[in-house]
Amino acid sequence: MKRSCAAKPEFYEKTISLLFPRRCPLCGRPVEPGALCHEACRQKTPYLTPPFCLQCGTALADDESELCRGCVRAPKSFAMARHVYPYPAVRQGLLDMKYKDRPEYADHFAAEAVRRLGREMVSWDADALVPVPLHPARKRHRGYNQAALLAEGIGRALQLPVREKAVRRVRRTAPMKALSRTARSANLEKAFAAGDASGIRRAIVVDDIYTTGATAEAVTRVLLQAGAEKVFVVTMAAGSDAGSTDESDFL
Ligand SMILES: [Zn+2]
Ligand SMILES: [Zn+2]
Repeated sequence: MKRSCAAKPEFYEKTISLLFPRRCPLCGRPVEPGALCHEACRQKTPYLTPPFCLQCGTALADDESELCRGCVRAPKSFAMARHVYPYPAVRQGLLDMKYKDRPEYADHFAAEAVRRLGREMVSWDADALVPVPLHPARKRHRGYNQAALLAEGIGRALQLPVREKAVRRVRRTAPMKALSRTARSANLEKAFAAGDASGIRRAIVVDDIYTTGATAEAVTRVLLQAGAEKVFVVTMAAGSDAGSTDESDFL
């Protein structure tokens, strides 16, 4: 299998990388031209491993049960969610990708998603990747949507189209932290609307982080209402961390 840390650089890319060296998304230090990360860092960064909930993919304390308590209490609308890393293992890299103008980190994370979950994603027989949209004002401010960059990397490797306009973020919602879980879902529910989702039968929703799952759930519902039969979810990392949840984009 292709090693994600050893992609061959083109001349232009090589020149650029000498002037502005890429940094390793896992440790923040510069990498060799053409590399996406340090191979040593890659090898010591743990993937999320079983036992995890068969539906939402978050870590379970033991392998006695198949579903987490959240999915037993309120089954999700998506068929299955899978995540590459436990959040603490890649926290800084994901935060820097999003808030410190490191869109190129998406190349590494997408390559790792393909390495870790590619076979499973292919087995889902999806016909589109749908990145979780940013509110247009936030996208203008940041310059890019990290979820779309991740989806593009995955799509290139698996030859799946990225349907960035399938779901739109229609409004910025109220700050989420003060809200109860139910109020959060209701708040998020109104944040997304269908865009051009025509012809999408089986979609994979792509995002950087999965915490409560409220975002993935809201986007899934929009796709199902727009005619999709089945929705899957892939994120780079599952877990929680105060102050940087998947809902922090609403603040
Ligand atoms: Zn490194
Ligand atoms: Zn679950």
